This record gives sequence, structure tokens and C-alpha cells, in this order.
Amino acid sequence: MSLDDSELPRTEDEWRVRLSPEEFRVLREHGTEAPWSGEYVDTKTPGVYHCRACGLELFASDAKFDSHCGWPSFDDAIPGRVREVEDRSMGMVRTEIRCARCDSHLGHVFTGEGFTPKDTRHCVNSVSLRLEPRDT
Ligand SMILES: [Zn+2]
Repeated sequence: MSLDDSELPRTEDEWRVRLSPEEFRVLREHGTEAPWSGEYVDTKTPGVYHCRACGLELFASDAKFDSHCGWPSFDDAIPGRVREVEDRSMGMVRTEIRCARCDSHLGHVFTGEGFTPKDTRHCVNSVSLRLEPRDT
């Protein structure tokens, strides 16, 4: 259920009617779901994770790994689908990640933690994602 560019909401009010209150809070107001609360924290199902707001394919399940941080974690994004933005909120300098297409908030990206050979952790809110399981 990917939206055409012409169908993408143009205003926050249009997003508000399209998303649940929790989806709106995280995706459009840069919120964070509580750790361990998201539906995809421990998911191992093969497939592709789409942006919950616009349907763009963002992460392959192959890139998902157990970070034990309480949010779904991926060591790579599908090229060109995720935009990085400096985030200076909460007294820290972090790198926020957003959907490259609809600019919705996904989470943050961290490097240098040594979890995987790619040494990168895209820490993403479950509520920002929708898993489309691969046909087997
Ligand atoms: Zn999107």
C-alpha cells in the first residue's frame, strides 16, 4: 500500500486523519515509543519493512539484528530511502533518520558500537514501520 507522490499528505492535518494518534506522535512529531513496547522488537520474519506513513520500502529484514536496546535495529537501510538529519534535542547531538520520501521520523542512527561488521545501528520505532512478510 505505497502511496503515489500525488497522494502524499501536504499538511500535518492531513497526516493526522490518516495516522493513529501514536503513529502521528512518533512519525510527525518526532516522538519515541517506549522501549520493548513495539511490535517488531523481536521479529525475525523475513520481509521488507515499509514506512508506515507512505509505504516506501526502507529496511530489509536481512539487516535486522538483536541489539537488546528495546527497538528494532538494522545495520543498513535500503540505499537512498533514509535521510539523516542532525538532532540537537535533549542536550545531545544525535543523527535522526527520516523517510526520504515523506520526511516522517523513523528513529536515530548510531555508529561505532560494534554490534555488527557494518558497525551501524538504525534504531527505529516499530510504529514507524510496517513489515511486509516475504512470500515463501
Ligand atoms: Zn515515508
